[in-house]
Amino acid sequence: MTKAPLSVEDALAQILSGAEPVGTEAVPLSEAAGRTLAEPLVATLTQPPFDATAMDGYAVRLADVEKLPAELAVIGEAAAGHPFSGDVAPGQAVRIFTGAPLPKGADAIVIQENTQANGSTVRVVDVSPDPSHIRPSGGDFKSGEAVLAAGIKLEARHIGLAAAMGHPSVVVYRKPLVAILSTGDELVEPGTTPAAGQIVSSNGFALAAMIAAAGGQPHLLGIARDTAESLAEKIDEAKDADILVTIGGASVGDHDLVAPALKTAGFEMDFWKIAMRPGKPLMQAKRPGQRAIGLPGNPVSSIVCTKVFIEPLVKAMCGQSGATSPTRTARLATPLGPNGPRQHYMRATVEPAPDGHGLIAKPAENQDSSLLTILAQSNALLIRAPNQPALEKGDKVTVMQIDF
Ligand code: AMP
Ligand code: MG
Repeated sequence: MTKAPLSVEDALAQILSGAEPVGTEAVPLSEAAGRTLAEPLVATLTQPPFDATAMDGYAVRLADVEKLPAELAVIGEAAAGHPFSGDVAPGQAVRIFTGAPLPKGADAIVIQENTQANGSTVRVVDVSPDPSHIRPSGGDFKSGEAVLAAGIKLEARHIGLAAAMGHPSVVVYRKPLVAILSTGDELVEPGTTPAAGQIVSSNGFALAAMIAAAGGQPHLLGIARDTAESLAEKIDEAKDADILVTIGGASVGDHDLVAPALKTAGFEMDFWKIAMRPGKPLMQAKRPGQRAIGLPGNPVSSIVCTKVFIEPLVKAMCGQSGATSPTRTARLATPLGPNGPRQHYMRATVEPAPDGHGLIAKPAENQDSSLLTILAQSNALLIRAPNQPALEKGDKVTVMQIDF
Protein backbone atom coordinates (compact mmCIF):
# COMPACT_ATOMS: atom_id res chain seq x y z
CA MET A 1 0.00 0.00 0.00
CA THR A 2 1.51 3.33 -1.01
CA LYS A 3 0.32 6.80 -0.25
CA ALA A 4 1.74 10.13 -1.42
CA PRO A 5 4.11 11.56 1.20
CA LEU A 6 2.48 14.11 3.50
CA SER A 7 3.68 17.70 3.52
CA VAL A 8 5.59 18.80 6.62
CA GLU A 9 2.72 21.16 7.44
CA ASP A 10 0.09 18.41 7.25
CA ALA A 11 2.23 15.99 9.25
CA LEU A 12 2.75 18.59 11.97
CA ALA A 13 -0.99 19.39 12.03
CA GLN A 14 -1.75 15.66 12.43
CA ILE A 15 0.83 15.31 15.18
CA LEU A 16 -0.50 18.33 17.07
CA SER A 17 -4.17 17.42 16.69
CA GLY A 18 -5.26 15.88 19.95
CA ALA A 19 -1.96 16.70 21.67
CA GLU A 20 -3.39 17.44 25.10
CA PRO A 21 -1.74 17.75 28.52
CA VAL A 22 -1.54 14.43 30.33
CA GLY A 23 -2.67 15.47 33.81
CA THR A 24 -1.54 17.83 36.55
CA GLU A 25 0.65 17.72 39.64
CA ALA A 26 1.73 20.07 42.42
CA VAL A 27 5.43 20.98 42.47
CA PRO A 28 7.38 23.10 44.96
CA LEU A 29 8.43 26.52 43.63
CA SER A 30 12.07 25.40 43.57
CA GLU A 31 11.12 22.90 40.83
CA ALA A 32 8.60 25.02 38.97
CA ALA A 33 10.87 26.79 36.44
CA GLY A 34 9.89 25.90 32.89
CA ARG A 35 6.66 24.16 33.91
CA THR A 36 3.25 25.29 32.71
CA LEU A 37 0.69 26.55 35.18
CA ALA A 38 -2.42 24.34 35.05
CA GLU A 39 -4.69 26.53 37.19
CA PRO A 40 -4.97 30.30 37.60
CA LEU A 41 -2.83 31.39 40.53
CA VAL A 42 -4.81 33.42 43.05
CA ALA A 43 -3.07 35.67 45.58
CA THR A 44 -3.54 34.48 49.15
CA LEU A 45 -2.08 37.78 50.42
CA THR A 46 -2.20 41.49 49.70
CA GLN A 47 1.06 43.10 48.62
CA PRO A 48 2.23 45.39 50.08
CA PRO A 49 0.23 44.25 53.12
CA PHE A 50 0.22 47.85 54.49
CA ASP A 51 0.93 51.37 53.22
CA ALA A 52 4.73 51.35 53.25
CA THR A 53 7.39 53.98 52.79
CA ALA A 54 9.53 53.72 49.67
CA MET A 55 12.18 56.08 51.11
CA ASP A 56 14.19 56.89 54.22
CA GLY A 57 12.96 60.11 55.89
CA TYR A 58 10.16 61.27 58.16
CA ALA A 59 6.50 60.29 58.27
CA VAL A 60 4.50 63.51 58.63
CA ARG A 61 1.05 65.00 58.24
CA LEU A 62 0.82 66.75 54.89
CA ALA A 63 -1.03 69.68 56.47
CA ASP A 64 2.02 70.29 58.70
CA VAL A 65 4.39 70.80 55.78
CA GLU A 66 2.26 73.08 53.62
CA LYS A 67 4.20 76.08 54.93
CA LEU A 68 7.99 75.69 54.97
CA PRO A 69 10.24 75.50 56.80
CA ALA A 70 8.31 73.47 59.40
CA GLU A 71 9.62 72.37 62.79
CA LEU A 72 8.18 69.00 63.95
CA ALA A 73 8.62 66.92 67.12
CA VAL A 74 10.13 63.48 66.41
CA ILE A 75 8.11 61.05 68.55
CA GLY A 76 9.61 57.71 67.50
CA GLU A 77 11.06 55.50 64.81
CA ALA A 78 9.72 52.95 62.28
CA ALA A 79 11.86 50.48 60.32
CA ALA A 80 11.14 47.41 58.15
CA GLY A 81 9.79 44.74 60.49
CA HIS A 82 9.57 47.27 63.36
CA PRO A 83 6.41 49.38 62.97
CA PHE A 84 5.70 52.47 65.08
CA SER A 85 2.68 51.67 67.19
CA GLY A 86 1.49 55.18 68.16
CA ASP A 87 -0.35 57.92 66.28
CA VAL A 88 1.22 60.93 64.62
CA ALA A 89 -0.60 64.02 65.90
CA PRO A 90 -0.39 67.54 64.36
CA GLY A 91 3.11 68.98 64.74
CA GLN A 92 4.70 65.52 65.07
CA ALA A 93 6.87 63.30 62.85
CA VAL A 94 8.26 59.75 63.00
CA ARG A 95 11.76 58.89 61.77
CA ILE A 96 11.13 56.20 59.13
CA PHE A 97 13.18 53.79 56.98
CA THR A 98 12.38 52.09 53.65
CA GLY A 99 9.89 49.24 53.97
CA ALA A 100 8.37 50.38 57.27
CA PRO A 101 4.58 50.73 57.56
CA LEU A 102 3.29 54.30 57.43
CA PRO A 103 2.38 55.20 61.04
CA LYS A 104 -1.25 56.06 61.84
CA GLY A 105 -2.02 59.75 61.45
CA ALA A 106 0.79 60.33 58.92
CA ASP A 107 -0.05 60.73 55.25
CA ALA A 108 3.28 61.70 53.64
CA ILE A 109 6.99 60.93 53.74
CA VAL A 110 9.48 63.74 53.60
CA ILE A 111 12.75 62.36 52.32
CA GLN A 112 15.78 62.66 54.55
CA GLU A 113 17.54 64.95 52.05
CA ASN A 114 14.82 67.60 52.57
CA THR A 115 15.24 67.76 56.36
CA GLN A 116 17.65 68.87 59.08
CA ALA A 117 17.62 66.68 62.20
CA ASN A 118 18.02 68.55 65.46
CA GLY A 119 17.85 66.31 68.54
CA SER A 120 14.19 65.60 69.29
CA THR A 121 12.93 67.81 66.48
CA VAL A 122 13.28 67.88 62.72
CA ARG A 123 13.15 70.87 60.41
CA VAL A 124 11.47 70.20 57.06
CA VAL A 125 12.95 72.56 54.49
CA ASP A 126 11.49 71.20 51.25
CA VAL A 127 8.90 68.64 50.08
CA SER A 128 9.79 68.63 46.37
CA PRO A 129 9.49 66.96 44.00
CA ASP A 130 6.55 65.15 45.60
CA PRO A 131 5.89 64.35 49.22
CA SER A 132 4.09 61.00 48.79
CA HIS A 133 6.78 58.25 48.58
CA ILE A 134 4.17 55.81 49.86
CA ARG A 135 3.61 52.36 48.38
CA PRO A 136 -0.10 51.84 48.99
CA SER A 137 -1.40 48.60 50.46
CA GLY A 138 -2.43 46.26 47.60
CA GLY A 139 -0.50 48.33 45.05
CA ASP A 140 1.09 45.17 43.63
CA PHE A 141 -1.78 42.70 44.10
CA LYS A 142 -4.70 42.05 46.41
CA SER A 143 -5.72 38.86 48.19
CA GLY A 144 -8.19 36.92 46.03
CA GLU A 145 -6.94 38.33 42.71
CA ALA A 146 -6.11 35.77 39.98
CA VAL A 147 -2.73 37.23 39.09
CA LEU A 148 -1.25 34.51 36.85
CA ALA A 149 -3.39 32.80 34.22
CA ALA A 150 -3.40 29.05 33.53
CA GLY A 151 -1.19 28.17 30.57
CA ILE A 152 1.70 30.46 31.52
CA LYS A 153 5.13 28.89 31.24
CA LEU A 154 6.66 29.69 34.60
CA GLU A 155 9.88 31.68 34.35
CA ALA A 156 11.88 33.23 37.19
CA ARG A 157 9.74 36.39 37.17
CA HIS A 158 6.53 34.41 37.60
CA ILE A 159 8.02 32.22 40.30
CA GLY A 160 9.04 35.28 42.35
CA LEU A 161 5.51 36.59 42.03
CA ALA A 162 4.01 33.21 43.02
CA ALA A 163 6.17 33.22 46.15
CA ALA A 164 5.13 36.80 46.99
CA MET A 165 1.50 35.72 46.60
CA GLY A 166 2.07 33.17 49.35
CA HIS A 167 2.30 29.94 47.33
CA PRO A 168 4.99 27.43 48.37
CA SER A 169 3.96 25.18 45.45
CA VAL A 170 2.01 25.43 42.19
CA VAL A 171 -0.17 23.09 40.16
CA VAL A 172 1.40 22.46 36.76
CA TYR A 173 0.79 20.10 33.87
CA ARG A 174 2.54 16.79 34.23
CA LYS A 175 5.61 16.25 32.05
CA PRO A 176 4.79 13.85 29.24
CA LEU A 177 6.87 10.70 29.60
CA VAL A 178 8.77 10.12 26.36
CA ALA A 179 10.37 6.71 25.88
CA ILE A 180 13.20 6.73 23.35
CA LEU A 181 14.12 3.52 21.56
CA SER A 182 17.14 3.16 19.28
CA THR A 183 16.97 0.28 16.83
CA GLY A 184 19.66 -1.45 14.81
CA ASP A 185 21.88 -4.53 14.81
CA GLU A 186 24.90 -2.29 14.20
CA LEU A 187 24.47 -0.11 17.29
CA VAL A 188 26.51 -0.15 20.49
CA GLU A 189 26.30 2.19 23.48
CA PRO A 190 28.84 5.04 23.76
CA GLY A 191 31.85 3.90 25.79
CA THR A 192 31.88 0.50 24.08
CA THR A 193 34.53 -0.07 21.42
CA PRO A 194 32.65 -0.83 18.20
CA ALA A 195 33.52 -4.17 16.57
CA ALA A 196 33.68 -4.56 12.78
CA GLY A 197 30.55 -3.09 11.21
CA GLN A 198 29.28 -1.54 14.42
CA ILE A 199 28.66 2.13 15.14
CA VAL A 200 27.95 4.04 18.31
CA SER A 201 24.31 4.81 19.05
CA SER A 202 24.24 8.58 19.50
CA ASN A 203 20.78 9.79 18.54
CA GLY A 204 18.94 8.83 21.70
CA PHE A 205 21.13 11.07 23.83
CA ALA A 206 20.60 14.13 21.63
CA LEU A 207 16.87 13.49 21.54
CA ALA A 208 16.65 13.03 25.31
CA ALA A 209 18.32 16.40 25.84
CA MET A 210 15.96 18.10 23.38
CA ILE A 211 12.90 16.48 24.93
CA ALA A 212 13.96 17.50 28.43
CA ALA A 213 14.53 21.08 27.23
CA ALA A 214 11.05 21.11 25.67
CA GLY A 215 9.55 20.14 29.03
CA GLY A 216 9.19 16.37 28.62
CA GLN A 217 10.50 13.54 30.79
CA PRO A 218 12.80 11.47 28.57
CA HIS A 219 13.39 7.81 29.29
CA LEU A 220 16.12 6.06 27.29
CA LEU A 221 15.17 2.46 26.54
CA GLY A 222 18.51 1.61 24.94
CA ILE A 223 18.84 -0.41 21.75
CA ALA A 224 16.46 -2.90 20.15
CA ARG A 225 17.92 -5.35 17.66
CA ASP A 226 16.48 -5.67 14.16
CA THR A 227 14.24 -8.57 15.12
CA ALA A 228 10.51 -8.69 15.76
CA GLU A 229 11.15 -10.21 19.22
CA SER A 230 13.62 -7.58 20.39
CA LEU A 231 11.40 -4.76 19.15
CA ALA A 232 8.31 -6.29 20.78
CA GLU A 233 10.14 -6.57 24.09
CA LYS A 234 11.30 -2.94 24.03
CA ILE A 235 7.94 -1.61 22.83
CA ASP A 236 6.37 -3.41 25.77
CA GLU A 237 8.87 -1.75 28.14
CA ALA A 238 7.53 1.59 26.86
CA LYS A 239 3.92 0.85 27.74
CA ASP A 240 3.65 3.53 30.44
CA ALA A 241 5.07 6.29 28.22
CA ASP A 242 2.86 8.98 26.75
CA ILE A 243 5.00 9.06 23.63
CA LEU A 244 7.23 6.32 22.24
CA VAL A 245 9.92 7.67 19.94
CA THR A 246 11.66 5.06 17.82
CA ILE A 247 14.87 5.78 15.94
CA GLY A 248 15.81 3.96 12.74
CA GLY A 249 14.30 0.97 11.02
CA ALA A 250 11.57 3.16 9.59
CA SER A 251 12.31 2.81 5.87
CA VAL A 252 11.10 -0.03 3.71
CA GLY A 253 14.24 -2.20 3.74
CA ASP A 254 14.31 -5.83 4.84
CA HIS A 255 15.68 -4.78 8.22
CA ASP A 256 13.15 -2.01 8.76
CA LEU A 257 10.85 -3.71 11.19
CA VAL A 258 9.58 -0.86 13.31
CA ALA A 259 6.24 -0.32 11.54
CA PRO A 260 5.29 -4.04 11.61
CA ALA A 261 6.39 -4.26 15.25
CA LEU A 262 4.23 -1.27 16.18
CA LYS A 263 1.24 -2.80 14.36
CA THR A 264 1.74 -6.10 16.19
CA ALA A 265 1.79 -4.15 19.47
CA GLY A 266 -1.62 -2.66 18.70
CA PHE A 267 -0.67 0.64 17.09
CA GLU A 268 -2.56 2.01 14.12
CA MET A 269 -0.56 3.91 11.50
CA ASP A 270 -1.48 7.54 10.80
CA PHE A 271 1.29 8.15 8.26
CA TRP A 272 4.75 6.84 7.52
CA LYS A 273 6.21 9.01 4.78
CA ILE A 274 6.62 12.76 4.59
CA ALA A 275 7.98 15.11 1.92
CA MET A 276 10.91 16.28 4.01
CA ARG A 277 14.66 16.24 3.72
CA PRO A 278 16.25 15.03 5.88
CA GLY A 279 13.63 12.72 7.29
CA LYS A 280 11.48 11.05 4.67
CA PRO A 281 10.54 7.97 6.68
CA LEU A 282 8.74 9.69 9.54
CA MET A 283 5.76 7.87 10.98
CA GLN A 284 3.07 8.41 13.53
CA ALA A 285 1.01 5.59 15.01
CA LYS A 286 -1.39 5.45 17.94
CA ARG A 287 -2.81 2.99 20.39
CA PRO A 288 -5.08 3.94 23.29
CA GLY A 289 -3.25 6.30 25.65
CA GLN A 290 -0.05 6.36 23.66
CA ARG A 291 1.36 7.55 20.41
CA ALA A 292 4.51 6.46 18.64
CA ILE A 293 6.62 8.68 16.44
CA GLY A 294 9.04 6.76 14.25
CA LEU A 295 12.12 8.73 13.22
CA PRO A 296 14.73 7.96 10.59
CA GLY A 297 18.03 6.66 11.94
CA ASN A 298 20.45 9.07 10.35
CA PRO A 299 21.68 11.28 13.19
CA VAL A 300 20.89 14.65 11.62
CA SER A 301 17.53 13.41 10.32
CA SER A 302 16.45 12.21 13.73
CA ILE A 303 17.47 15.47 15.38
CA VAL A 304 15.91 17.74 12.75
CA CYS A 305 12.66 15.73 12.88
CA THR A 306 12.70 16.06 16.66
CA LYS A 307 13.08 19.82 16.34
CA VAL A 308 10.29 20.12 13.77
CA PHE A 309 7.77 17.59 15.14
CA ILE A 310 8.56 16.23 18.61
CA GLU A 311 9.54 19.47 20.31
CA PRO A 312 6.17 21.10 19.40
CA LEU A 313 4.34 17.90 20.40
CA VAL A 314 6.02 17.79 23.82
CA LYS A 315 5.38 21.51 24.37
CA ALA A 316 1.70 21.11 23.46
CA MET A 317 1.42 18.15 25.84
CA CYS A 318 2.98 20.33 28.56
CA GLY A 319 0.07 22.74 28.06
CA GLN A 320 2.11 25.44 26.34
CA SER A 321 0.38 27.49 23.70
CA GLY A 322 2.22 28.53 20.53
CA ALA A 323 4.28 25.36 20.59
CA THR A 324 5.63 25.50 17.02
CA SER A 325 9.13 26.88 16.52
CA PRO A 326 9.25 30.46 15.21
CA THR A 327 11.00 31.28 11.94
CA ARG A 328 12.66 34.44 10.68
CA THR A 329 13.71 35.88 7.36
CA ALA A 330 17.37 36.15 6.35
CA ARG A 331 19.27 36.90 3.15
CA LEU A 332 21.28 34.22 1.42
CA ALA A 333 25.06 34.48 1.54
CA THR A 334 25.54 32.14 -1.43
CA PRO A 335 23.39 31.07 -4.38
CA LEU A 336 21.49 27.77 -4.14
CA GLY A 337 20.31 25.43 -6.92
CA PRO A 338 16.66 24.47 -7.33
CA ASN A 339 15.14 22.40 -4.49
CA GLY A 340 13.70 18.93 -5.10
CA PRO A 341 10.17 17.76 -4.25
CA ARG A 342 10.77 17.60 -0.48
CA GLN A 343 10.87 20.47 2.03
CA HIS A 344 14.56 20.83 2.81
CA TYR A 345 15.92 21.77 6.24
CA MET A 346 19.52 22.81 5.54
CA ARG A 347 22.06 23.29 8.27
CA ALA A 348 23.15 26.92 8.15
CA THR A 349 24.89 29.68 10.03
CA VAL A 350 22.85 32.82 10.56
CA GLU A 351 24.54 36.04 11.61
CA PRO A 352 23.62 39.71 11.77
CA ALA A 353 24.34 41.37 8.41
CA PRO A 354 27.57 43.41 8.44
CA ASP A 355 25.57 46.52 7.42
CA GLY A 356 23.42 46.08 10.57
CA HIS A 357 20.24 45.39 8.56
CA GLY A 358 18.70 41.97 9.15
CA LEU A 359 20.36 38.56 9.02
CA ILE A 360 22.60 36.70 6.60
CA ALA A 361 22.21 32.91 6.23
CA LYS A 362 25.06 30.75 5.00
CA PRO A 363 24.06 27.13 4.28
CA ALA A 364 26.71 24.49 5.00
CA GLU A 365 28.23 23.08 1.81
CA ASN A 366 27.83 19.42 2.76
CA GLN A 367 24.27 18.54 3.79
CA ASP A 368 24.77 14.77 4.20
CA SER A 369 22.38 13.73 6.97
CA SER A 370 24.96 11.65 8.80
CA LEU A 371 27.25 14.61 9.56
CA LEU A 372 26.78 15.64 13.17
CA THR A 373 29.79 17.97 13.17
CA ILE A 374 28.13 20.20 10.56
CA LEU A 375 25.00 20.30 12.71
CA ALA A 376 27.03 21.14 15.82
CA GLN A 377 28.68 24.05 13.96
CA SER A 378 25.34 25.40 12.70
CA ASN A 379 22.94 27.67 14.55
CA ALA A 380 19.94 27.52 12.24
CA LEU A 381 17.99 25.45 9.76
CA LEU A 382 17.35 27.13 6.43
CA ILE A 383 13.96 25.96 5.21
CA ARG A 384 13.32 25.51 1.50
CA ALA A 385 9.81 24.80 0.22
CA PRO A 386 9.31 21.80 -2.09
CA ASN A 387 10.34 22.60 -5.68
CA GLN A 388 11.58 26.06 -4.78
CA PRO A 389 13.49 27.44 -7.80
CA ALA A 390 17.17 28.34 -7.68
CA LEU A 391 18.04 31.29 -5.45
CA GLU A 392 20.57 34.09 -5.88
CA LYS A 393 22.88 35.51 -3.28
CA GLY A 394 20.87 38.13 -1.34
CA ASP A 395 17.49 36.42 -1.90
CA LYS A 396 15.22 36.15 1.13
CA VAL A 397 15.02 32.77 2.88
CA THR A 398 13.24 31.39 5.95
CA VAL A 399 15.38 30.26 8.87
CA MET A 400 14.61 28.50 12.14
CA GLN A 401 17.07 29.22 14.92
CA ILE A 402 18.36 26.09 16.65
CA ASP A 403 19.09 26.30 20.32
CA PHE A 404 19.78 22.70 21.26
P1 AMP B 1 18.03 3.25 9.54
O1 AMP B 1 17.00 4.34 9.52
O2 AMP B 1 17.80 2.25 10.60
O3 AMP B 1 18.17 2.65 8.19
O4 AMP B 1 19.39 3.97 9.88
C1 AMP B 1 19.95 4.92 9.00
C2 AMP B 1 21.37 5.23 9.42
O5 AMP B 1 21.38 5.83 10.71
C3 AMP B 1 22.27 4.00 9.51
O6 AMP B 1 23.56 4.37 9.04
C4 AMP B 1 22.30 3.73 11.01
O7 AMP B 1 23.47 3.06 11.40
C5 AMP B 1 22.23 5.11 11.60
N1 AMP B 1 21.61 5.07 12.92
C6 AMP B 1 20.46 4.45 13.23
N2 AMP B 1 20.18 4.59 14.53
C7 AMP B 1 21.17 5.32 15.07
C8 AMP B 1 21.47 5.80 16.37
N3 AMP B 1 20.65 5.54 17.41
N4 AMP B 1 22.59 6.53 16.55
C9 AMP B 1 23.41 6.79 15.51
N5 AMP B 1 23.18 6.37 14.26
C10 AMP B 1 22.09 5.63 14.02
MG1 MG C 1 18.50 0.39 11.06
